[in-house]
Amino acid sequence: MARSEPGFTLIRGARLADPARRRAEPAEVLIEDGVIRAVGNGLAAPPGAREIDAANTVIHPGLINAHTHGHGGLARGQGDKWTLELLLAAAPWIGGNRALADKKLTTQIVAAEMVLKGCTAAYDLYYEFPLPTREGMDAAAEAYAEVGMRAVVAPMVADRTMYEAIPGLHDALPAELQAAVEKLRLAPYDKTLAAIADILRHWRWAGEDIRAAVAPTIPHHCDDAFMCGCAKLAREHGIGLHTHVGESKVQALTGIKRYGRTLVAHMDGLGLLGPDFTAAHAIWLDDDDLKRVRDTGGSLAHNPGSNMRLGNGLFRLRRALDLGVNVGIGTDGANCSDNQNMFEAMRYASMVSKVQTPDPKCWASVEEVYHAATQGSARALGFRDIGAIAPGMKADIVFLDLDAVTWIPHNWTVNQMVHAEDGSSVKHVMIGGRFVVQDRKLLTLDLPKLAREAEAARERLEALNAGMRDLFHRLEPVVASFCPAMAAQPYHIRQYLCDAPGP
Ligand SMILES: [Zn+2]
Repeated sequence: MARSEPGFTLIRGARLADPARRRAEPAEVLIEDGVIRAVGNGLAAPPGAREIDAANTVIHPGLINAHTHGHGGLARGQGDKWTLELLLAAAPWIGGNRALADKKLTTQIVAAEMVLKGCTAAYDLYYEFPLPTREGMDAAAEAYAEVGMRAVVAPMVADRTMYEAIPGLHDALPAELQAAVEKLRLAPYDKTLAAIADILRHWRWAGEDIRAAVAPTIPHHCDDAFMCGCAKLAREHGIGLHTHVGESKVQALTGIKRYGRTLVAHMDGLGLLGPDFTAAHAIWLDDDDLKRVRDTGGSLAHNPGSNMRLGNGLFRLRRALDLGVNVGIGTDGANCSDNQNMFEAMRYASMVSKVQTPDPKCWASVEEVYHAATQGSARALGFRDIGAIAPGMKADIVFLDLDAVTWIPHNWTVNQMVHAEDGSSVKHVMIGGRFVVQDRKLLTLDLPKLAREAEAARERLEALNAGMRDLFHRLEPVVASFCPAMAAQPYHIRQYLCDAPGP
């Protein structure tokens, strides 16, 4: 669990990653009760301190995943040529019929992968059908607690299916498929709001740094009164509000069709934006949308791997940073981007900013990407004391092995972290001063046992969800033609990469 290691610890011999320097320089780190007390050279070990010899490593703050889904763990590798809308159509198949034990298991898979690849905290939008439950959310939180990560876990909710949310999609289905998708109808929103209120009232994980949040999944999949009810609950409890906004072009067009203005302008009009608000993806946002998020102190969660995998488009990282919006970086769920590797997410974030134009002044730098994946994400999660190795911060520290092949030779630390590292150099991971990964071994979870349990669950769920798989295969041709045809319609926004008039 993310409880702190008691007493003093002194880390000696490591090189400390510092974006202000090209190469990490040696520094010692003194930790007391899981919190960093001092960083510098020549620090003395207090009597009785545990001393850690970290020679030949680079240390950096744990990476922070601004957007993932615990329910995705058991569903990785299921789709190939899937758009976002095909993924949503497949959801009852790849995520259906989960027992309570599966709800914990799927999150354990996600948490184990994240921590083994140098990520120490995550924002998890967790889905249960037909509505969230206290037991289900508790199982997800327990998975993070046992692995030893910090997390924000938000019940992900809606009261409209995709067939109800996208104008014309239901009508495009033949009658027998219309009848079939009507059975997938979600709970009325007052029941779901009551379920969220119950979850928040009984949340027992705050002391473990596993906090709750509320995630109305996609604005137009939720009635306006439902969105406002979610925001009211989040604000009563002082917790985050997180939603997918402008992820696909179909969503952006739906926003205009439904509300006569952009999704962000609509949500702003409802009073949903604020410092506690995170918009995931944000690909199909215009500058006015970005400024609204900036002016209300909100955050964006950039998920470049998922955005490419689902063919959604390319987020304008340079423009968002120039306008002064807080940006975190995420992997998104394993059900749509397969792995949970924050090093890969950083690499993609850098490259996606570079592939959009040959003009390097419109690109994001490795320092900016690294900042987004640490302090930018920390702010999106609402944590003030993670994302940096500095006095007063929690001792969430990743040790990279400088003998690993990606560090031969070690020229430019942050550049190699963003562009060369793939997680294979992660030697130790410390959370709250306590080793969760040591010598590349996860100490808090038995991985071979997890693999056996996951295989048994996979086999059982495959049989249970066979009918839903067949339904998906009948829906697939309709969704795969309707949505791209809709996305071919023009969406008139100016998307400057960097050369627009100033803020
Ligand atoms: Zn997502």
